[in-house]
Amino acid sequence: MVELKKDISEIKVCNQCGEINYDNVNFCQDCGSMLKDFTHVFCDICGAKNSIENKTCDECKNLL
Ligand SMILES: [Zn+2]
Ligand SMILES: [Zn+2]
Repeated sequence: MVELKKDISEIKVCNQCGEINYDNVNFCQDCGSMLKDFTHVFCDICGAKNSIENKTCDECKNLL
């Protein structure tokens, strides 16, 4: 499978404040909210909350 949009997978957009954080941090650099949720993942494209078991976003079908 071709790996698309690798640069997007390396950042986490805070779902609380919208700050862009790099993937090696677990907490938002701006507001301190937890970026890694161990039961859910947030879509990088649309921000939808998805089960960690999802391979693609329920909303936009982005590869999680
Ligand atoms: Zn934040
Ligand atoms: Zn999405």
